[in-house]
Amino acid sequence: EETKPDLLLLDLDLSKLSGFDTLSVIHQNVKLKHLPIIIMTSATDPESKVRALDLGATDFLAKPIDKIELGLRVKNTLAAKAYQDQLAYYDPMTKLPNNKLFQERLDWAVKKAKRYNDRLALMTIVLDKFNRINAMVGPSGGDDVMRQVARRIEGVIRNVDILGRSAEDDDIKMNLFRTDGSAFSLLLDRIRGEENAAVVANRIIEAIREPMKVESSNIYLTASIGIATFPADGEDYAELMHQASGARGYVKTRGGNSFQFSSKEINAAYIKRLSLDNGLRKALDRDEFVLHYQPEVNVRTNAIEGVESLLRWNSSETGLVPPNDFIPLAEETGLIVPIGEWVINEACLQLKKLHKAGMTSLVVAVNLSVRQFNDPGFFSMIKRLVTGHSIDPRFIKLEITESLLMDDIENKIKMLKRLTGMGFQLAIDDFGTGFSSLKYISKLPVDELKIDRSFIMDAVNNSSNRAVVLSVIFLAHCLGLRTVAEGIEEEEQLDLLLKERCDLYQGFLFSKPVPEKKLFELLSSR
Ligand code: C2E
Ligand code: CA
Ligand code: CA
Repeated sequence: EETKPDLLLLDLDLSKLSGFDTLSVIHQNVKLKHLPIIIMTSATDPESKVRALDLGATDFLAKPIDKIELGLRVKNTLAAKAYQDQLAYYDPMTKLPNNKLFQERLDWAVKKAKRYNDRLALMTIVLDKFNRINAMVGPSGGDDVMRQVARRIEGVIRNVDILGRSAEDDDIKMNLFRTDGSAFSLLLDRIRGEENAAVVANRIIEAIREPMKVESSNIYLTASIGIATFPADGEDYAELMHQASGARGYVKTRGGNSFQFSSKEINAAYIKRLSLDNGLRKALDRDEFVLHYQPEVNVRTNAIEGVESLLRWNSSETGLVPPNDFIPLAEETGLIVPIGEWVINEACLQLKKLHKAGMTSLVVAVNLSVRQFNDPGFFSMIKRLVTGHSIDPRFIKLEITESLLMDDIENKIKMLKRLTGMGFQLAIDDFGTGFSSLKYISKLPVDELKIDRSFIMDAVNNSSNRAVVLSVIFLAHCLGLRTVAEGIEEEEQLDLLLKERCDLYQGFLFSKPVPEKKLFELLSSR
């Protein structure tokens, strides 16, 4: 029942349960009743054959089994099954899977999502005033409309860039179904933020709104979309579909041509996201970004060796927004590319100031996001900036995360080598929280591993966290890399680092990230 096989090969002479018992169990199960079953038996008496047929067997193979014969029977049975499935599960007009398959897939997807703690979204899409269209272009024209709409929605979901997906989440799956008359359903599997479904819904609405040629006349369509999400709105087909249809109905009452989430919180999250995104788009022009700097300090000598630049957004509309609230959004929408360029430029200016003030060995660290790194203009941008400011890239440390190495590792290593070739220093940020394989660690051209704060937090009291910290330091030193411990708040943590020969640390114990002016005060007081 769990695997939903397409075919069963059954031996009648099983030791524990007889073949006939098995057959009758399957025969009484609604879900398995129509499963094709080939009986493999040496029993030739017609009576047992008839009995087996009565219990739902579809074919026989006599023992000893001939390989070629077996292959042929399997092939024929599967071909017949595929044909039946096509009839039972697909809409012949649009060639899309139908409501029956949608129900099965949805229940299956919910099961999987429960197991892996994933989230799902379900969208029901219906054409507004379709009856009027049908009356206008006639039934065959109406069919044509449905086909064209199906292709347009497919076009939208085929566009992989739609959610600004990165390697981490490219296994989001979207499946389209034709669920009845003028309705389609879309299942979004493993979606990261539910609000992302809104991006997809918007694109679908836009795609449907484009004028459509049917029987040589131009027609104009709009659609209403309702969205329900798992786990927020329900746990099975009936509940989720009910919620999504309710939301869709609400859109209809307000004139259609729009979408709506069923749950209030998600609508609120979407609205917040929209206004955040709007604000972010203006932030660069309005000069609302600023960098703060957190010292990176030598564990043994307590001397400041560098500073990490951390982005701050002081929005004129919403006030100070923490980076964890806006950077993921900027990554999704791609805004991180121009913002990241601003950060590097600003960090270069700061480096110049620090060196001019006599602190000529200070290094400035900059956080890079995967999206920035994957941007085709990245290398020329960074080169232009360092040459423009005549900066020696040795004094710039680029912090990347393990997620960068999630796919196409060989190529990523090449790109990283290009950066070190230009002279930049490289650090792996939040080391240990991602999935980098140890196999590649030794091949990466990096200078430094930054141990994530989550390991440091409890390292003094929690022996397994301590073990991670010690192992990372040991691993790094074996490979000739430096280590930086993040988030040091207590003396005991620093003592541990000293004992274990960690190279650098940063954290509130020494200093919070501070604005430029404070940084200079901090540096000159030492
Ligand atoms: P991160 O790179 O791991 O930065 C360290 C974070 O830990 C910073 O948070 C910092 O303020 C915080 N922190 C430092 N010491 C302590 C401590 O002792 N205790 C505690 N509780 N926290 C400490 P922040 O500034 O909020 O930055 C969060 C994340 O935002 C950064 O994590 C980084 O991933 C990202 N980010 C910040 N600036 C940029 C940027 O310019 N570009 C990109 N792509 N990402 C950035
Ligand atoms: Ca960092
Ligand atoms: Ca970190």
